[in-house]
Amino acid sequence: MSCFISKYADELAKNAAYIGTPGKGILAADESTGTIGKRLASINVENVEENRRALRELLFTAPGALQFISGVIFFEETLYQKTASGKLFVDVLKESGVLPGIKVDTGTVVLNGTNDETFTQGLDGLAQRCQKYYEAGARFAKWRAVLKIGTIEPTELAIQENANGLAMYSAICQQCGLVPIVEPEILVDGPHDINKCAAVTERVLAACYKALNDHHVMLEGTLLKPNMVTPGSDSPKVAPEVIAEHTVRALQRTIPPAVPAVVFLSGGQSEEEATINLNAMNKLKTKKPWSLSFSFGRALQQSTLKAWGGKAENLGKAQEAFLVRCKANSEATLGTYKGDAKLGEGAAESLHVKDYKY
Ligand code: 13P
Repeated sequence: MSCFISKYADELAKNAAYIGTPGKGILAADESTGTIGKRLASINVENVEENRRALRELLFTAPGALQFISGVIFFEETLYQKTASGKLFVDVLKESGVLPGIKVDTGTVVLNGTNDETFTQGLDGLAQRCQKYYEAGARFAKWRAVLKIGTIEPTELAIQENANGLAMYSAICQQCGLVPIVEPEILVDGPHDINKCAAVTERVLAACYKALNDHHVMLEGTLLKPNMVTPGSDSPKVAPEVIAEHTVRALQRTIPPAVPAVVFLSGGQSEEEATINLNAMNKLKTKKPWSLSFSFGRALQQSTLKAWGGKAENLGKAQEAFLVRCKANSEATLGTYKGDAKLGEGAAESLHVKDYKY
């Protein structure tokens, strides 16, 4: 039996359900300093705190955009940053009804004796950090576990260690009032077909929900952030309807209805691909006891980044590009996206990076 005792139980369930409100989703803006540096380098902008802050202010203050967003994931630095005029980003979000979230993992290390499979770190001192983040206004957290598909991967060792890590992290978050996003990302890298991805996704998700139960995690106060089920990056693409069918079936087979929402990562898909695939899932007529939404990083920011180019005079154009993607993804959560988002520069571009680090 799962016995969950946290003074935050009601608040956790309420916040998790709110994040999954149809029509809204999550902006993942929690790139670590190294990762955002690569994004900034792609537009020839130096990776210094002021430029990281400026990009994030551009996103959080884009006129009209936050109505389509229920949560933003911050990197620790951003939780304490302010707009140029001195308002905490946390307060900017709160005023628009957006919950602040925080990345709490500290990256991956290789599991000994494997073909570079990894385990995610960050459990030491996690409760203390979560308490501090809650006091600063955070209401949910993210921990990214990474698995890969190969001839013998993911191994049982990688599946079990990552499922347990996610479950321990989730239990600690819930004791501190943060809704844990459970993110077991299966990388798209490889030549495998969609059936292989479906089989691995089911195996990984089943292990995660077994571990979450073992660790007495209250599922109503969690969110799942999985990969979509797609063919590998070195395999021919398939139609959005095929991705939708395989993805929703994998979820039906493994995700209890107590989980309020599934918020997909974009995993290197282009902005438009990610939106169209999400829309196809929401159009699918089948059993879906959770809302299906987005927690995109790359697929919400690419055309904005290109439009901005690090130049103050491009601010309006960049914010307009961000609004376009937020609105398109909002429609995709309702299955009403018509494919009519004005394609900004970079919107159709693959954002796949091999062995992606976040
Ligand atoms: P992408 O949408 O860029 O894959 O990233 C989302 C995320 O937060 C991964 O942890």
